Amino acid sequence: MPEKSQKDAERSEALEMNPWHQAMEQLDRAGSKMNMEPFVLERLRHCKRILTVSVPVKMDDGSISVFEGYRIQHNLDRGPAKGGIRYHPQVSLDEVKALSFWMTMKCAVVNLPYGGAKGGVICDPKKMSIGEIERLTRRYTSEISILLGPDRDIPAPDVNTNEQIMAWIMDTYSMTVGYSCPGVVTGKPIEAGGSLGRKEATGRGVFYVTRELSNIRGFDLRKAPVAIQGFGNVGANAAKIFAEHGCKVVGISDVGGGLYDAKGLDIDDIMAYRQTHESIAKYPRAEHVPVEHFVEVPCEVLIPAAMENTITHENASKVKAKFVIEGANGPTTNRADRVLEERGVLVIPDILANAGGVTVSYFEWVQDIQAYFWSEKDINARLQDIIVRAFREVYEVAQRERVDMRLAAFMVGLNRLAKAVRIRGTFP
Ligand code: NAD
Repeated sequence: MPEKSQKDAERSEALEMNPWHQAMEQLDRAGSKMNMEPFVLERLRHCKRILTVSVPVKMDDGSISVFEGYRIQHNLDRGPAKGGIRYHPQVSLDEVKALSFWMTMKCAVVNLPYGGAKGGVICDPKKMSIGEIERLTRRYTSEISILLGPDRDIPAPDVNTNEQIMAWIMDTYSMTVGYSCPGVVTGKPIEAGGSLGRKEATGRGVFYVTRELSNIRGFDLRKAPVAIQGFGNVGANAAKIFAEHGCKVVGISDVGGGLYDAKGLDIDDIMAYRQTHESIAKYPRAEHVPVEHFVEVPCEVLIPAAMENTITHENASKVKAKFVIEGANGPTTNRADRVLEERGVLVIPDILANAGGVTVSYFEWVQDIQAYFWSEKDINARLQDIIVRAFREVYEVAQRERVDMRLAAFMVGLNRLAKAVRIRGTFP
């Protein structure tokens, strides 16, 4: 390849893998389709607040390591900031910016009274002890506490963070203000003011979306083989809930490798195996699939529930599924989207498909503020109501405007957001 075209190819590859660039392309696409006023789009092209913090942590061997962390509030026009906290070696400012923007859009699509935020720390929790993770969490919380508060900014779990970490965040914030403040974070353990159903909520929302899709499209979900990439909070709970509803989960993977069985995997058995093993990759009672080829396994419904950019223009042509339901945030690049669309694969976008998590986070926050807790039956029924309503609204826009579901979801979210931006006006 001549040097110039080689450079162009590398540049377009880099942009394809940059989540902020992807997110802004998605915004522009919706903005131009809707003829949106430039000032609204300009507001959304900027994050309202970006905080970078250094997080010194005393390690077990007595040394001090300094980690870099971020908390970004993308937009607060529809309410306080809401969004998870990620611990991962590949966390970057552009990634956190994109994730905070997608939170703004997601809360608007499902109509929750929140703005969007996200946080992250560049670290590898797999190489840290529990004590080191606790000290990292408490110091990071203290560093970003100038932004936090139940009516200001409410974090939640994301990749490599969990209920225990949320409890430390709640405790650290409470120690700082001098009283117990459960509403400052969601995804907490029940004992510390958490909500029933929160742990399973994102996976459950993915299931409700897929079931509604099967109702509208008229296919039998119990006969449609499902493959799920990622076996963490979203992926493992989705697998469990699909299996509980009689669906056949034929593929499942984590960062170490993938499993496949055309007759259906025994999810309970894999969950039990996971209790005593770091990864499911060597689980003995299934075929093994290399991680980089997992999205190509034979299935009808593919649920990427791991990280960004796992479906790219390079592997999109090998996806066998008819439906891609985005459990993860940003798993399909924009170039891959075009390839899938040309091949007639329907993608249900992240800002709709995985909104079950933030929806039950919202319920948890409401319960904390009222100090009155609901039954799990109530929570799941309300979750279903919100997710199905949002799905139908987006589907209806997609049909009416003859656009794909991602563009339709952006149009629904942007429309709601633009109304708030316009009516609040520009201060001063
Ligand atoms: P998690 O840390 O609980 O699990 C992540 C899983 O992905 C792990 O099983 C890990 O091994 C696997 N993984 C990582 N890289 C992989 C790869 N290349 N191939 C296959 N598997 C890989 O994280 P989570 O909370 O389940 O989040 C997963 C995704 O869902 C993220 O994109 C996150 O932003 C999104 N999300 C999470 C929530 C939530 O409530 N936790 C809500 C909405 C969206």
